[in-house]
Amino acid sequence: MTTLRLILGDQLNPCHSWFTAIDNQVVYTLMECRAETDYVLHHGQKILGIFAAMRDFAQRLNAAGHRVHYLSIDDPMNLNHLEDNVLQLAEQYQCQRIEYQEPDEWRVDLLLSNLKKRFAGAVMGVSSEHFFTERQTGSEFFGQKQWLMERFYRRMRQEHGILMEDNGEPCGGQWNFDEQNREPWRGEVALVPPLLIEHNHEALWQIISTANIKSMGQVDAKHFIWPLNREEALTYLDHFIEQRLLHFGRFQDAMVLDQPFLFHSLLSFALNTKMISPREVIMGAVEAYRQGTAPLNAVEGFVRQILGWREYVRCFYWAHGLEYQAVNYFNHQRQLPEWFWTGKTKMRCLAQAIGQSLDHAYAHHIHRLMIIGNAALLFGLSPQAVSQWYLGVYIDAFEWVEQPNTLGMSQFADGGLLATKPYVASAAYVNRMSNYCKGCSYQFKLREEENACPLNALYWHFHYIHRDQLMKNHRLSMVYRQWQRFDERQQQAILQRAETLLNDWQTC
Ligand code: FAD
Repeated sequence: MTTLRLILGDQLNPCHSWFTAIDNQVVYTLMECRAETDYVLHHGQKILGIFAAMRDFAQRLNAAGHRVHYLSIDDPMNLNHLEDNVLQLAEQYQCQRIEYQEPDEWRVDLLLSNLKKRFAGAVMGVSSEHFFTERQTGSEFFGQKQWLMERFYRRMRQEHGILMEDNGEPCGGQWNFDEQNREPWRGEVALVPPLLIEHNHEALWQIISTANIKSMGQVDAKHFIWPLNREEALTYLDHFIEQRLLHFGRFQDAMVLDQPFLFHSLLSFALNTKMISPREVIMGAVEAYRQGTAPLNAVEGFVRQILGWREYVRCFYWAHGLEYQAVNYFNHQRQLPEWFWTGKTKMRCLAQAIGQSLDHAYAHHIHRLMIIGNAALLFGLSPQAVSQWYLGVYIDAFEWVEQPNTLGMSQFADGGLLATKPYVASAAYVNRMSNYCKGCSYQFKLREEENACPLNALYWHFHYIHRDQLMKNHRLSMVYRQWQRFDERQQQAILQRAETLLNDWQTC
C-alpha cells in the first residue's frame, strides 16, 4: 500500500517521527503553488526563502534515501493548487492513503479537510510535533474567563518545569523581570552583529520572476541571509546564545537608527518553518543561564516570548475561529498610505521601521507594535488592510501568529480579547526608546504646530474619538485625566491638527 505524505512549506522539520525510517511505500511531496504565493502580496524574500528552504529539505530527504516528489513552480505538471496537486500525485503513485501534518492555519486546514471528500482512500492528519501546546489548550485553560498571557505563561513554566526551582518557585523568586528589560540603547555596550549566512539564490529568484509571481520589498538574491535548513538555524541559535542573548532582555524594546537587529535572535523564520523546535531554543537559553553566561532577566525575557507569547497566540488563534479575521472594533476604514510600500515618509521612526521591513522582511517586535502598528491605529487604518500588509511583509508571517498579534495586540480590533488596552504612544515614547526623533522633520515635543510630530495630536485624537469605547477601561483613566488638564483652546487645537493630518495622511 502506497502512502503519499504532504510536507507544507512551513513544516521543514527533519526530526519529525515520519523520517525515522526509510519506507519505499511512502512518497513524500513538497510543492510550490501559486495558490500559496498569491493569497496575499508577499515580500520577495519570503517567497524566495520558503522555496529555497523547501528545495533544500527535499534534497536532504532524497539524499537520506526517502522517495520524494518535488513539484517546482515551473513544472508543467504543477496545477498550482495544493489539493489538486495532492490528488493528481496520489493517482500517479496509485496511493491508497494520504497523510499530512496538521497545518497551522484555518485556511489550509479547510483546504486539507476537503481532501477527505475528494479522495477515495484514507486521509489522515498527524501532529506536526512542534508546539508545546495543542490547538485546544488555550480554550480548555481559560474556558469562559478573560484570556491573560501572564496566567498562561506561568502555567506553561510550571507544566514544563522551565526556569523553575525544585521547590516549585520560579527561578530568581519572580516570574517576570520586565522592569530590567525596557532600556533604550545609548551605546552602553557594544552592538554584536548577528551571524548571517549568505546564500546565492539568483537562479531560483529568476525562476520566481519568470513565473511572474508578484511580490514586494527588496530582494538581494545573491546575498540571501535567512537560515534555510536545520544546520543553519542551529548555527544562528548558537551564535545568539553565545554572543547576544546576554543583552537581549535589557535592550529588547530599544530602537536604534540603521540597526534593525540589535540583540534580537532572528530565529522566527526558522521556528515558524519548524527547522528548529521551540523546546531546543528555550533549553539553549536556559542552559546559558544555568552556566552563568546569560543573566536571568535576559533568559526569562526570551523564554517568555517563545513559551509565553508564541504558544499563547497560537492557542488564541485556534480558539477564536475564522470570524476573527473580520474584527474591527473601532470601525477603522482608511486604506494604507503609499509610504507603507515605499518607506518614504517624513516621520523618521516610520521611515526606519517600514524601510527595514521592506529591506530585510524583518522588524523586531517594538517596530511592529509601537512604531508601525501604533501609527496604523492612530491614523485609523483598516485593521484588515494592516493585517494583510503584516502577513505579506515579514519573513516569519503566517496567519496563526500574525493575526492575533496584528488584529488583537497591535490594532485592538477585537475590542480587548487579546490585549487589555490599545498599544498606542505619542512621540515621547519613541524618543525615549530610540534615537529616531533627533533629526526628524517633525518636532517630537510639539503637539499643535505644523511641524509637530503627527503622533502627538493623533494620540489624543484617538482617545478622544473613541472615548465611549475606552474611557471605562481603568488602565486608561490616567490618559483621560491628562486630557482633561488641557484647556478648551488646547483641546481644540490638538483635535484640529489631528483632523488636518488625517485629511493628509498620504503625505505625512
Ligand atoms: P526575538 O525578539 O529574538 O524573540 C524570540 C522569539 O520569540 C521570536 O523568534 C518569536 O518566535 C517569539 N516571539 C516574540 N514575540 C512574539 C509574539 N508577540 N508572538 C509570537 N511569537 C513571538 N512573529 C512571528 O513569528 N510572525 C508574525 O507574523 C508576527 N507578526 C507580528 C505582528 C505584530 C503587530 C507584532 C507586534 C508582533 C508580531 N510578531 C510576529 C512577534 C515578533 O515581532 C516576532 O516574532 C519577532 O520580531 C521575530 O524576530 P526575532 O526572531 O528576532 O525575535
